[in-house]
Amino acid sequence: MAAQILDGKALAQELRAGFKERAAALTAKGLKPGLVVILVGEDPASQVYVKNKVAACEAVGMYSEKLVYPADVAPAVVLNKIAELNADTKVHGILVQLPLPAHFDEAAVLEAIAAEKDVDGFHAENVGALAQGQPRFIPCTPYGVMKMFAKGGVNLSGKEAVVIGRSNIVGKPMALLLINAGATVTVCNSRTRNLAEHTRRADIIVAAVGKPRFVTADMVKPGAVVIDVGINRLPDGKLCGDVDYESVKEVAAWITPVPGGVGPMTITMLLANTIEAAERKAGI
Ligand code: NAP
Repeated sequence: MAAQILDGKALAQELRAGFKERAAALTAKGLKPGLVVILVGEDPASQVYVKNKVAACEAVGMYSEKLVYPADVAPAVVLNKIAELNADTKVHGILVQLPLPAHFDEAAVLEAIAAEKDVDGFHAENVGALAQGQPRFIPCTPYGVMKMFAKGGVNLSGKEAVVIGRSNIVGKPMALLLINAGATVTVCNSRTRNLAEHTRRADIIVAAVGKPRFVTADMVKPGAVVIDVGINRLPDGKLCGDVDYESVKEVAAWITPVPGGVGPMTITMLLANTIEAAERKAGI
């Protein structure tokens, strides 16, 4: 039987309707939630991501601003701006679009953002809180995946989960969230031996590899839940995930499509984090 689809697009719409109400309630108190997105350079993919983030904020009635710097800007200019935004009461969330040009110390930039405005959840303080099981801001992509599990009624406790990928933005925080939810978690990377032996044991697979159709049906246990975080551009311009959707959907119980799966949830959870930041500031 073909897998059921975890529809990120539909869930994103449902959640965003709730955000509109929360943003309106805050605005009525003079505390319109505000997000500033900083973009350095002209990477075309980053430009699209930033445009979409700003538009998504505006669509739910939040304040949003995009600051664009040339690729050769001095890091001190950006750091000074972040310091200014940290002190700006209109701004509840600050996001620096990654990757930054090579002359930037990415970690130093992320640490410069005030932890209470770090809506991407990449500041060491927020990473530490997540690792301790007391999250404040959860990185948006894995946060979105957790919402999809909840929507599908997927119980994580006691399950074997395999995360493929160990990046700071997806793989590692995903693994922490699964650990916190009581799953038994294996995190694989490019040096993992016999990857399929791990994935075939898994009740839950999260693929965050960045390689088109990398996870094939023979790597998946019948009845598994398969989450595809990957966004890969094919030579014909079409998007595809890290999972071979057509074959894996015949084996899995639940699957996320690309596009329309995890992607729409990522920006949705950025909105969630910014509204949460504003609500905390307002004492709600
Ligand atoms: P990344 O930083 O490049 O990390 C990829 C991970 O995959 C690394 O840990 C790498 O291992 C591992 N890997 C590579 N080849 C492997 C192999 N043969 N076997 C096992 N593991 C392997 O990428 P990322 O930022 O985590 O993103 C992953 C994918 O998700 C990309 O397609 C990206 O575009 C997409 N993404 C989507 C969203 C969304 O909103 N849906 C958000 C963020 C990212 P090593 O560490 O050993 O190199």
